[in-house]
Amino acid sequence: MSLAAGRPYLAIPGPSVIPDRVLRAMHQGSPNIYEGPLIDLVAGLWPDLRQVAGTVGHVAMYIGNGHAAWEAANANIFSRGDKALVLAVGQFGLSWANSARAMGINVEVLDFGKSSPVDLGRIEAALRADAGHTIKAVLTTHVDTASSIKTDIPALRAVMDAAGHPALLAVDCIASLGCDEFRMDDWGVDVMVAACQKGLMTPPGVAFVWFSEAARLRCGRSDLATPYWAWGPRAEPEEFWQIWDGTAPTSHLFGLRAALDMIREEGLPNVWQRHRVLAGAVWAAFDAWGAGNPSIALNVADPVHRGCSVTAARLGAPHATRLRDWCETKAGVTLGIGLGMAPSTDPAYHGFLRVGHMGHVNAHMTLGALAVMEAGLTALDIPHGQGAIEAAARFVAAEA
Ligand SMILES: *Cc1c(COP(=O)(O)O)cnc(C)c1O
Repeated sequence: MSLAAGRPYLAIPGPSVIPDRVLRAMHQGSPNIYEGPLIDLVAGLWPDLRQVAGTVGHVAMYIGNGHAAWEAANANIFSRGDKALVLAVGQFGLSWANSARAMGINVEVLDFGKSSPVDLGRIEAALRADAGHTIKAVLTTHVDTASSIKTDIPALRAVMDAAGHPALLAVDCIASLGCDEFRMDDWGVDVMVAACQKGLMTPPGVAFVWFSEAARLRCGRSDLATPYWAWGPRAEPEEFWQIWDGTAPTSHLFGLRAALDMIREEGLPNVWQRHRVLAGAVWAAFDAWGAGNPSIALNVADPVHRGCSVTAARLGAPHATRLRDWCETKAGVTLGIGLGMAPSTDPAYHGFLRVGHMGHVNAHMTLGALAVMEAGLTALDIPHGQGAIEAAARFVAAEA
């Protein structure tokens, strides 16, 4: 039998759970896009978008997903043949590099594997080796959703400064914005990209690029920025239509307004803290399942290097696939797949899963998902350590 009837929980790292309040806000007919309330609504988004990113800089919005945000950043930062240094700690860093390469940018990738954080020494050496300062920008993920590795952005900035390298620092916060602490201006980030369907709790469809005034001046002559992708008119429009270079994503804007209201009402530091505690509960459960069972382990050994919105873990093939299937069909909880592996040809695919705990998620959802996983491990006879749910509950009890 199945116990999946009831409200399903999509516990994957994006798209995330959409709050009812966001859904209700979106449920209205097309507004006038030339004058009236929509214009005021968009004017009200800018300050909140700056606040959630921790910047007084510019923000350009695009109809698009995270991949669009990468290309938007690439198009504005670089001219053809300019050099990018990409730091990869998982599939998303590599994919950003691919998008840049395809646009004619000269890409050097520093690949740190899929379970280790960036090596700051190697980055500093690469920057010092670039004595002619040909690297225009360093591109990095804040949290790579495939590996769940978090990059220490202030430490990266410090290394760039120590090397005396003038490259811009561009950060992908698609998985972390509105989940993990991020302070664009305080941390010396020049360009930041995100999309609305993860921490911002809105259906996929709006991408963002934040950029500092210094970045705007440095990138003014980039030749990749075609009219649609150019960030200038979007961030400083003379007329409303220029914000989207055409028709605005009207329904999404209603939803985004509601989502930003929710973040403001909760308070951004409280949002970050909620994600820290829920992530800690997930980690506590995995530590208990893995005790004495080395085939179950978190992908990132040191908690300091783990993102708080997604957890990647190994379960031993084929158990990850079996557990995901069980949780979805028997209990209504959908867990994330392993990324960067082909399901048909790579047996490792079936040993890897990810738990999303981003956005509109609370303690009962996370503890419920963990308890369902415990039930699945038991039902499927997958060897696992005991006490995981108690450990997760204790963590929540201590932190709440
Ligand atoms: C989800 C994600 C992307 C890709 O976003 P799409 O909306 O799927 O294009 C890129 N980078 C990171 C870190 C992500 O989490």
